[in-house]
Amino acid sequence: MKVGFVGLGIMGKPMAKNIIKNGYEVVVYDFHESAVAEVVAAGATAGLSGKDVAEKSEVIITMLPNSPNVEAALFNENGIAEGLSAGKTVIDMSSIAPKASQSFAEKLAAIDVDFMDAPVSGGEPKAVDGTIAVMVGGKTDVFAKYESLLATMASSVTLVGEVGAGNITKLANQMIVAVNIAAISEAYSLAKKAGVSPDAVYQAIRSGLAGSTVMDQKSEKIFSGNFEPGFRIELHIKDLQNALDTSHDINVSTPFTSLAMDIMQSLKAHDLEKCDHSAIANYYEQINNLKLQD
Ligand code: NAD
Repeated sequence: MKVGFVGLGIMGKPMAKNIIKNGYEVVVYDFHESAVAEVVAAGATAGLSGKDVAEKSEVIITMLPNSPNVEAALFNENGIAEGLSAGKTVIDMSSIAPKASQSFAEKLAAIDVDFMDAPVSGGEPKAVDGTIAVMVGGKTDVFAKYESLLATMASSVTLVGEVGAGNITKLANQMIVAVNIAAISEAYSLAKKAGVSPDAVYQAIRSGLAGSTVMDQKSEKIFSGNFEPGFRIELHIKDLQNALDTSHDINVSTPFTSLAMDIMQSLKAHDLEKCDHSAIANYYEQINNLKLQD
């Protein structure tokens, strides 16, 4: 099976390399020639454009920042859609608005091309290890056809519903992570002001009910004050915007997500949008005039 891959950024590069390692022929395209060269060195063929990649592949994976980028990659001049024909499939693994996924699926169905949204969770280290989690929206038969391809990049691949359901699941994930980091930062602030070491609090409660993967992965960053990404605040703002737009569209009240968004906007106003999202702790440090470092 020939696989096209468009979008070779922090996530796309290692994901494409894992597909190659599993024996698939892969054709790649990105605006950044250095990213293309790196994946070609790992065994891919360089495509000239999205159109060229789609002409040469049976299934085309996209891994791009947000809905407008996916729309441009699909439908702009020389884009993927121009190289598609009946029977091919597009799998968009970007984290985008569920409504956008549904609209792309409709447009592509008109030319007999299948579409699935398959965003991922796990970040760069898991993309490199091939252990990301993939949450898929699409038809059962299309999923069955490409499940083993997706499994070359992942430790779990789950069909969660029709097209759009993958990105609904990803938004749920991003809401939980943002609110969780805020809750942890808030609790550590209380401990610090009360004269109890936040690290001692973490060690004491991490295996209890309050413990979480977020707590384990982000506490060390909070205690070291090292907010190198990881997952950038600007990308999390994009996800929370999509979550709020979606919840308002379908009339769901999401007050904690709104609060988490407000905190991230404040961090952006302080030029911290390139920091890891664990810099939410920095917001609590500012409003409480304290430092969470031990
Ligand atoms: P990135 O900004 O590092 O990479 C995006 C790549 O897309 C860039 O190389 C860019 O040149 C390319 N691109 C943009 N438009 C293009 C087009 N029209 N044609 C060809 N190439 C194009 O982003 P990333 O960190 O790899 O994230 C990609 C997606 O995965 C985002 O939706 C993000 O929210 C999601 N995600 C990221 C992480 C993470 O930890 N970075 C984790 C999970 C999910």
